[in-house]
Parts: sequence; structure tokens; C-alpha cells
Amino acid sequence: MTPPLHPLNPNGLDPNDPATRDALQARLRFYRELGIGEFYRREVDLSVSSTAETVAEAPPVVVAPEPPAALFPQFQETEIAPRKPFPAAPPQAPPVPPEQHFAALKLIRDEIGDCTRCPLAAGRNKLVFGDGDPNARLMFVGEGPGADEDASGVPFVGRGGQLLNNMIQAMGLKREQVYIANVVKCRPPANRTPEPDEANTCSPFLFRQIDVVRPQVIVALGQTAVTYLTGEKRSLAAWRGTVHPLRGTKLIVTYHPAFLLRDPNQKKHAWADLQIAMRELGLTPPVRK
Ligand code: URA
Repeated sequence: MTPPLHPLNPNGLDPNDPATRDALQARLRFYRELGIGEFYRREVDLSVSSTAETVAEAPPVVVAPEPPAALFPQFQETEIAPRKPFPAAPPQAPPVPPEQHFAALKLIRDEIGDCTRCPLAAGRNKLVFGDGDPNARLMFVGEGPGADEDASGVPFVGRGGQLLNNMIQAMGLKREQVYIANVVKCRPPANRTPEPDEANTCSPFLFRQIDVVRPQVIVALGQTAVTYLTGEKRSLAAWRGTVHPLRGTKLIVTYHPAFLLRDPNQKKHAWADLQIAMRELGLTPPVRK
């Protein structure tokens, strides 16, 4: 016999099933990378869908926020907890002479130490500080380490990293010529998006890395990177295509490589974003042989 459907779980999905949880997390991540960030769970009013068959065909538990109230005025929307305000970014640190960038980054790394400032420490294998040229003109900022990065201690070394390397190469640069860091330095469980408390605890170190490296251009890879770099929540579409001043550098926003791996059709748009970065850096792409 089919088990009865619960009004909070009209699809009969078991939220404790790891495969279901992973699938939901992957779906949420995909939406987030598209710039759709706010989701809520709403109760399904069974008087609207009175038979079990209709309920079983209802939309997934996780739904985008806009239309239901207008379409179904009888819905009582669950109130969404207000987002915690973003703490102000620390003031920009004075410039460090170029020959001291390496040592200044090491000081930041030493200060982070064997960090336990946020819950991500509990699941960490290796802390992923950053990688590349301490005097780079171009810096990439990602979200947080994945499994490969957690194992190696180096950012962007997995499949997403391979794609990032290709993107860097297409710009006519080598990976060693850029600097790469993340919003959070420890891997979130199951690669989930960092929680605001985790990101806000870790991001001051990212700002200090930026202030030491002083790149001319920062490319934010995806929604989490731009949200915590700027302290502003806007869709990726609203950020992309223009240059934004940030801590004396120019911020350009593009898709996260993991998103491009899932939706390769977007690569041409990412390339357009990288070309903005190249224009700001006075670079021309290498001639393909
Ligand atoms: N994704 C990120 O955002 N950063 C990494 O370092 C690896 C994957």
C-alpha cells in the first residue's frame, strides 16, 4: 500500500534519504547560480488539491517565491526569516610593497592557523587558503573548497578547476600568473552553499588577501562570491556585463565553473565576461594555432 502523503511533503520524498537530500541541494545550488536565492517551504492546502493523485502531482516541496499568493489568494504564506544584515567589510588596509606580498599573505595564513572560528572546521581535512602569484593583476574568487580542494589544500583543482584553468589560458594567461581564493576556506558539508555566519566569519581574511595582492581586476565566480565580496544581494544577471569598483580594484562577475560544467551553453556568456576583464587588463586573447 502507498504510504499516506504528508501535507508538508506532497511528493512523498524522504528528506532524510541522502540521495534525495543531495538532489535537492544540487537543485538549490543550480537556482542560486542562476541568481534565484530565496526559497521557502510552504504548506500545501489540501482543500485546493483534494485528491491524493492531484497532491502527488503538486510542484516539488521547494518552490520559487513569487506567484502562489497571486494565483492562490487563499494560501497563508509562511513568513520568511529576514536575512541577517551583511557585516561591513573591514576598511581597506594600506598597500604593502610588492616584494613583501608573499610574506604578508603568509602572515594572514598564520593568523588563520588551525581555525575553529566556524562550524566548517569540524568537517575539514585541509584548509584552502589561496594559490597563485602574490602580485597578480588578476584575482579569481570562488565560493569554497570542494572535495578535491579539501584533500589537496589548493583551490580549484577538481573538474571546476580544470575548467577555470582553461578559462585562464583562453585569456592568454597561466594559472601561476593569477591569484585564486574563496569566500570560505573550509569545505562545506556535501558542497552546500556556505551559511551567512560561516561566510561572514571567513570573508575578512579574503578581504585582507585582496588588500595585499591588490589585483587590478577581481573576477567573482558565481553568486556566493559576489554576494560576500559586495555585501549586496542581487541576481547574477544584475551584476554581469559591467565593471564594479571594489576596494580600489575592478570587480567583474561571471558564472561559477561548476555551473558552466552543468550548463555548457552558458560558457559563451562567461567568455564575454572574461573579455571585459581582459579589456580592463589590456590583454588580447592568444591567436589559436
Ligand atoms: N569551487 C569553489 O568555489 N572553490 C574551489 O576552490 C573549488 C570549487
